[in-house]
Amino acid sequence: MSVGLIYDPVFLEHVMYDCPERPDRLLAIIAHLQETGLLAHLQILPGRAASREELLSNHTPALVDMIEELAANGGGEFDGDTFVSAGSFRAAAYAAGSAISAVEAVCQSSFRQVYVLGRPPGHHATARRAMGFCLFNNVAIAARTALRQGWVKKLAIIDFDVHHGNGTANSFAEEPRVLYTSVHQWPLYPGTGDWRETGIGAGRGCTLNIPLPPHTGDAGYLRVFDELIKPALYRFAPELVLVSAGYDAHWADPLGDMLLSAAAYRELCAMISDWADTLCAGRQVYCLEGGYHLGSLASGVAATISALLGLPYRDTLGPSSLKETDIGDLPRRVARWHQLVN
Ligand SMILES: [Zn+2]
Repeated sequence: MSVGLIYDPVFLEHVMYDCPERPDRLLAIIAHLQETGLLAHLQILPGRAASREELLSNHTPALVDMIEELAANGGGEFDGDTFVSAGSFRAAAYAAGSAISAVEAVCQSSFRQVYVLGRPPGHHATARRAMGFCLFNNVAIAARTALRQGWVKKLAIIDFDVHHGNGTANSFAEEPRVLYTSVHQWPLYPGTGDWRETGIGAGRGCTLNIPLPPHTGDAGYLRVFDELIKPALYRFAPELVLVSAGYDAHWADPLGDMLLSAAAYRELCAMISDWADTLCAGRQVYCLEGGYHLGSLASGVAATISALLGLPYRDTLGPSSLKETDIGDLPRRVARWHQLVN
């Protein structure tokens, strides 16, 4: 079964001097996929720009207009770390549209696994606000489109970026057809993602936040994936799994304080892939979110792709030398609150 990859140089056109979310991130990933030989195993698929209507499926006209106008006028800033450059509207619309293309490929063709190597990232962008390096919410737009087009009746989003995906969580808090689950560091930007939230109204039971203490490492992540995300996913029984794949929980990353290794990213993604095989004929789409140390970012993506291909990956950065925090009975407490049975 082929694994697809969507990448386009248009993603490099979103650029601001001195921002950690920079074009070099994608170039480092591509170079590493090339040198490890993984790139040769992937089938390159075309991406495309999202239409205005598709962007409006998850965002207000005011936000879409503002990003388009700022770009047309040469750029501007939303806040200290969220900016628009002349090429940003094109890049952001293409990142969102490529996420849709990936979902369409796994739902409507023989592809079962597609990785979207796009930027800017998306999971912090809310319906009305660009924030946290994110302009449009790529995963949310792809999820909305999959539901609207009738490609699937329900889907799950797994977000393992070190930051909580507040934008995605907000978009689907009241949506019973989307399970949103996030593993993130707490406390950390953006300050959302409490473990007691379960969703709102009809969406009750469809939100699972797993905030973890700083210095959680491989063992803690593997535990919460196995003891919390797995039973939540099996209970929900999605027809498609979308992954907000951020690599800033790696021990080398400058923005997070977690201790994940690339080898663990491989194991976590192999777990997701196994669950998708059992639950939804393997249908899964990965969209790149964060990850700001070029070496660990490239390793994390390569580890993910090796898991999807079923190929080995040699983690040359190795594990962290620091002692991992014991997360104790946190999984049991969260499982009880969400009535998850393992
Ligand atoms: Zn992040």
